[in-house]
Formats: sequence, structure tokens, C-alpha cells
Amino acid sequence: MTVTAAFDIGGSKIEYARVGRDGTVSHRATLPTPHTGWTDFRDAVAALVAADGSQATRIGISIAGTTDSATGIAAAANVPAVNGHHLENELSTALGIPVRVGNDADCFALAEATVGAGRGMPIVFGAILGTGVGGGLVIGGRMVRGAHGVTGEWGHGPIVAEAVAARGIPVIRCGCGQTGCLDSYGSARGMERIHVALSGETRTSHAITEAWHAGDAAATRTIETFVELIAGPLSVIVNTIGPSVIPVGGGLSSDAALLSLIDSAVRDRVLGRYTETLVVPGRTRGASGLIGAAMLAEELPA
Ligand SMILES: [Zn+2]
Repeated sequence: MTVTAAFDIGGSKIEYARVGRDGTVSHRATLPTPHTGWTDFRDAVAALVAADGSQATRIGISIAGTTDSATGIAAAANVPAVNGHHLENELSTALGIPVRVGNDADCFALAEATVGAGRGMPIVFGAILGTGVGGGLVIGGRMVRGAHGVTGEWGHGPIVAEAVAARGIPVIRCGCGQTGCLDSYGSARGMERIHVALSGETRTSHAITEAWHAGDAAATRTIETFVELIAGPLSVIVNTIGPSVIPVGGGLSSDAALLSLIDSAVRDRVLGRYTETLVVPGRTRGASGLIGAAMLAEELPA
């Protein structure tokens, strides 16, 4: 019998579950992410598999980081224990089970394309708006793995530098090394950055969206600016790949009114005649890493 297990690995915790072909999640268990080196990390992964009776016959892993598609070597700023390791090979050997690894945004897109808001659709772009701006691309039900492990990363590159400067918002250097990345303005932290620049008020993204819902003028200006900065780059993605739907994940995706505003702004800017809602909340939130990782493992022989 085939039992597909999945891991969702982030900077604070390692989550484990079994995942059925229909995306049902069971046997969930969690351990803190070890930051004391590879051996402890590998042992934590093995302990979660053993705690479930070592029933898994194949494993998918979603990780907040990248895996170079040529070398298989992982790089994850928030999970330093895996840096420099070939996760698929080394964990397969340690566990005696085949392992597939994907980036967390890619796994979100795959989860949405298989059992979520993009189920059955030919081209799905999963976008992340939260602690950062990211994404993943699924075509014909298969995750697109770009050169050097990068696909769908529409948040990086100096794409909004001029738009930001024109609005009097400081043009800052991104963690990726470039200046004027959308990631610095289209994330939760970015919303706060826009707000302080435009209004002089320091507020959390949650407080800003709450104030916007209540009709606050300064918050409304921030949200309008935030949406404009996102809509330009996202419309280029739409024109380039022609997605049927863009499910959104990440912390900001829980605000339906915000996504609706982004949807309108994007559909106003694209060439295609999108009469249906294009930018929608993801339906697998809370389990998208686990589900997407499991769907990735489905590529492995049973
Ligand atoms: Zn960047």
C-alpha cells in the first residue's frame, strides 16, 4: 500500500502529516526546527516518520528555501541546518524512502492546482502575499521547476523602484541584494513601510487593513498605493503565462476585500478578457505546504 507523507518545514517548526490523493490530511505532528546542525535536523525528520509507525512509502517536503535544480543543493535562510545539503538524496538515504523536495510557494501553487481554487485548470499561478512576495507556477498539473530552482518569484528585481520613488516612498535595498523589489512593498512589512512614508504613522499591517475597512483616509491611501504597486507586476505575469486563476496564499490573503481590490486592478491592466474573478483566496491555506509536498511526491513511483 502506498502511504504518502509530507513535511512542511519553516524556520520555527517542522510539520508532518499523511496526505491522501484527494488532499485529506491526517496524522499531523510537529517538532521545533533544530538550528543546531544537519544531524539534529535529519534526526527530527526521522523521528516524525518513526512516530507515525514508519508507515510512509514516499515523502514530499515543502521548505521555505530553494533547491538548485542542477545540483540539488538546498539554500534556506530560515532553516540554516539544510544549507549545502542535497535534501532529496540525503534524506532518502537516511529514511530508506524516496523523497521529493519543493519550495513552499511552489508547493502552495501545486496544492491549489490539484485540490484548491485552481483544481482542473490548465495554468495556475499561485501567489504569496505575506511575510514576502512569492509564487509558483503549475502547468497541466505539474510544478514548473525553473533553472537554479527559481520559478514564479515575481517579488524580486528592481521593478517598482520608479513607482515607489514617484510616490515619495523610500527606495530600499532588498534582502536579495537588489533595490526597489516588490517584495519590499507588496508584503505585510511593505504595507507598513508605505503607510509610514505616506502618513507618518507607524502601524501594523493588521491595523492598517482594519482602519481601511473602517473608512480611514490615510489607510485608504496606503491600501490604494499598495494595490497599485502589486497590480503592475502581477499583470505582467498574467500577460506572460495566461493563468486561468491566481490563488493567493500568505498572511494578507485572508483579507477578501483586499484580494478583490487587487483582482480588479489586475484585470483592468491585462490584455486578456478576464470576465471571471482571477485573483482569489487560496482554498488550501493552513495545509497547502503539506498538500503541495504530497502532490510533489506523487511524481515518485508508488
Ligand atoms: Zn529582492
